[in-house]
Amino acid sequence: MVTQQVRSKTSSVEKKGQGTYVFHCVIKADWQLPVEPELEPATRNLGGGVGEYRILAGPGVVAADPSRWRTPPHRVFVNLPASATPELGTEIVEEKALLGFSKRYGFLSNQTANNRWISKVESSASLEAISQNISAYTPVEFRELLGAKSQAILKYAWKSGDKRTVEEIAEYTSESLRPHVDVATGAVAIKVADAWTMTCLLFLRDHAAGKTAVCANPECPAPYFLRSRKTQKICEAGECVAWAQRNYSLKWWRENESKAAKAKEQREEGKRGKKWR
Ligand SMILES: [Zn+2]
Repeated sequence: MVTQQVRSKTSSVEKKGQGTYVFHCVIKADWQLPVEPELEPATRNLGGGVGEYRILAGPGVVAADPSRWRTPPHRVFVNLPASATPELGTEIVEEKALLGFSKRYGFLSNQTANNRWISKVESSASLEAISQNISAYTPVEFRELLGAKSQAILKYAWKSGDKRTVEEIAEYTSESLRPHVDVATGAVAIKVADAWTMTCLLFLRDHAAGKTAVCANPECPAPYFLRSRKTQKICEAGECVAWAQRNYSLKWWRENESKAAKAKEQREEGKRGKKWR
């Protein structure tokens, strides 16, 4: 079976306190890329929006290869355009965007029928609906959203860092992982079976490292980003950097302008005071 490594740190087996050992662990992308994926016409929901659609493909032979991914899948997936049906409080990732994602990273998850691979995508609660109702969500509802490969729940977790949501994602993801001990190195290898599990796992890693952030530029084309320092407020896109520079100059100008105006006012008041004295 062909497997690929995502990222690894070199460390030998060492002892750590509190009844644990620290092991070297690698994460392996253990799936293949779909062959010639194509979209089936979407079905509409009652609000007239996209209800669900399927991507069909031939069985893959080429292994997914993280070393070829310039941008990691979680950052790409969470920024894919989605279309919403506000009257139903639902949204779904746009079909062509997900088709492009599937070609590069593989299917989010995969069923097989008649020697065809099928990736089924359903609309589910929108980011807005999740933000409003999150406190009432039951574990079953979280599970349904994660089972539906909901982009919105990931966006919500990315944006808010909500503890309960992140824990539910961790619980769901943990159940899908298959640990395996490599005999040659003694390292633990964890096989990840599809792009959705990998997306969630990478999100959890970067969330724990304090890297997940949302770009402050309201016009940012891909606002969910990974920051390299805690104080970073905008993503690395050229237009966002330019926006921040413009904003900074404007703020500076306003502050200094108002200081200058105040000083002028005080000077004039002083003069008037002298006149009437
Ligand atoms: Zn940005």
